[in-house]
Amino acid sequence: MRDHTFWHSAAALSWMQVLLEERVGQGFVLRVESDDRLTIRRLGEPGAISLKLDGATFLRADSEMACTQWDGVAEGWAMALPGQLPAPGVQCLELPLIRSVGGDYHIGYDILGLTFWMLTRQEEVGREDLDSHGRFPATSSHAFRHDYLERPIVDEWLHILRLVVGRVWPRVVLRQHRFSIKLSHDVDTPSLYGFKSWTMLGRMMLGDLLKRHDLRAFAQAPFIRVGSRKVLHTADPYNTFDWIMERSEAQGLRSAFYFICGRTDESRDAEYEPEHPAIRQLIRRIHARGHEVGLHPSYASYQHAGTIKAEADRLRKIARDEGVFQDQWGGRMHYLRWEQPTTLRAWADAGMDYDSTLGYADRPGFRCGTCFEYPAFDPVMDKAINLRIRPLIAMEATIIDPIYLGLGLGQEALERFEALKAACARVQGCFTLLWHNSSLVSLEQRELYSKVCTMSDISLEGERRPLRQ
Ligand SMILES: [Zn+2]
Repeated sequence: MRDHTFWHSAAALSWMQVLLEERVGQGFVLRVESDDRLTIRRLGEPGAISLKLDGATFLRADSEMACTQWDGVAEGWAMALPGQLPAPGVQCLELPLIRSVGGDYHIGYDILGLTFWMLTRQEEVGREDLDSHGRFPATSSHAFRHDYLERPIVDEWLHILRLVVGRVWPRVVLRQHRFSIKLSHDVDTPSLYGFKSWTMLGRMMLGDLLKRHDLRAFAQAPFIRVGSRKVLHTADPYNTFDWIMERSEAQGLRSAFYFICGRTDESRDAEYEPEHPAIRQLIRRIHARGHEVGLHPSYASYQHAGTIKAEADRLRKIARDEGVFQDQWGGRMHYLRWEQPTTLRAWADAGMDYDSTLGYADRPGFRCGTCFEYPAFDPVMDKAINLRIRPLIAMEATIIDPIYLGLGLGQEALERFEALKAACARVQGCFTLLWHNSSLVSLEQRELYSKVCTMSDISLEGERRPLRQ
């Protein structure tokens, strides 16, 4: 258990060192010099970067801390994104923020503390201001309140740290990153008709006939229902899997499909059982085409490690039966339900390799302050967790649907997606997108999706250039 009142415990520092290796490069050593100063050195080389340490602030489990901004351009630094860089945790910065002291440099802001605070989701621990699904909403977050949710500020600050590393050790080989897109699809409803009871189907058909006057749907429904016993019917509107895979393959991308493997809430979980022949066939098809199969833990599982483990075991058993072997197993919580660190621990205990839940349902953006995948850390137990976190940047419904931003399927929605993608590209990170297979029925939905997941269509200036080091 954490027994101190600052973020920079021994466990946190060694986790941070791993993170720096992934993000910046090898051979950096962190050392706490005093209560308010930490240094970064290189093994066997002269020179040091000292950073202000703000141990207590970045251990806070609330969103009330101050926030200011830093004008890096005014100090001559090439910023990753335009505009002033938000600096959570402080009222005002001592300027110049970055000073050269002999060959060494001093940075007057706790970049690593901010990184710890954002990545461990320390802010969310024990919170009670939750939404109707028990989720910590974007609107409660410090990032939303201070208007930086749609900026990857951890990546932006680590970009600054890389620039300083380049000044102190000009010959150091920095780790290079390249912009990428990860597409994922939570399989809540793989079929509109295939798994419905006949009573429910009858009701839907009446609706098609009387309310929607859709004779085609009315006539098709029973045939699709009957024809879905072994394989999803090709005419089923939600059976968009082949279209999705073709689209991804054309872009050189891989799609991940996350399946619900349990029922803990009658109305909110899936209608299908993952052992159904049509789902087994789908899982085989996804695997055969080189895409990924993953887990979508059921609605009420997020506080129950045993349930998540049982659902993961169920999926892995089906995969084994079907000859589906993967190097990595991951997924995302249904409804993005997450309690920090309960759900985090549960994913690791279930033997999963990564989770991709951490985005907000009510707003798109950078819940963890980063678009890079990273090793998990439990802020309550104060220890590294054997799990990778792959932050979710946008879910289609968040931007499109009236219950959230309600931007629809037109230009406004496209611009919002593109801005998020461009922000990821500017830090050479990863744009992780969730798009449900059931939201690709109309031409407009498909057109918008196609534009959003296009690798080569980043419209803002400068994204394709690697950042200067
Ligand atoms: Zn879901």
